[in-house]
Amino acid sequence: MEVELIDRIFVKPEAEMICAIPISCLGANDKMFWGFSKKGKFTVRSTYHAEVQWQYERRGSTSEVRKDAEQWKNLWSMDVPGGRRHFVWNALNNALPTKSNLFKRKVTEDSLCPMCRREEEDVQHALWCCPAAADVWDENSSHVRKWLNQIHDFSRLWSELSNRLSNGCLERVVAIMRGIWGRRNAFVFEDKFASPGHVVRTTLAGLEEYQEANAKMEGSRVRCEARRERRRWQIPVGDNCKLNFDAAVDLNNRRIGIGIIVRDCNGDILAAV
Ligand SMILES: [Zn+2]
Repeated sequence: MEVELIDRIFVKPEAEMICAIPISCLGANDKMFWGFSKKGKFTVRSTYHAEVQWQYERRGSTSEVRKDAEQWKNLWSMDVPGGRRHFVWNALNNALPTKSNLFKRKVTEDSLCPMCRREEEDVQHALWCCPAAADVWDENSSHVRKWLNQIHDFSRLWSELSNRLSNGCLERVVAIMRGIWGRRNAFVFEDKFASPGHVVRTTLAGLEEYQEANAKMEGSRVRCEARRERRRWQIPVGDNCKLNFDAAVDLNNRRIGIGIIVRDCNGDILAAV
């Protein structure tokens, strides 16, 4: 019964791998376990290392692996909201719920693109080749326009983009890609269709707002560290003790925390609370 269920949900190779997992003869309860980290807990970092390892095993070429690792590094260091980075990560791992992927898992009856209804909707089609996506790229006068429809594989496209574009330009491309996917979802699930110009304007405005807020936070962090550096603790004079205290307020949870420390003229701690 379970085997039939697995066969219905997964494609054949995946179903075979699942059914090959040995089942505990002690009758222990199932639990979630991620095999690429020591403690069995999922972390993005562990998938990065696993991917690099797979690439290495597949190609056996360190230079290729290094190039790929560089691209992943570019992805995680981009100044875009975290969700955008994970979006590209999912796209690169073919983990977006495109019609093609849903069809393979027997969730939908066809794999046709819901926007143009002309071709199969895989990641590359949804974000790049579909006429609906092309309209959005047409709106944006960035450098990427000339590569439109020439590349049919998303990993290769990402490789080209991250090698050729400046960081700022790549960040805008990522924001627009996420905007195209969001627009596609709004069309499928809410029957809304935003104009290409609207997609570009809203995604780029959102990115600008995020980067400005990030720059302000970075500025205040640097100022804070400089202030802390200037106000380094000094030993009290003579036989005196020194008491320092600090407080933090959590407005959301209506809580306050206070810390107090007393040290003598040698800097030894006499009391802390
Ligand atoms: Zn399409």
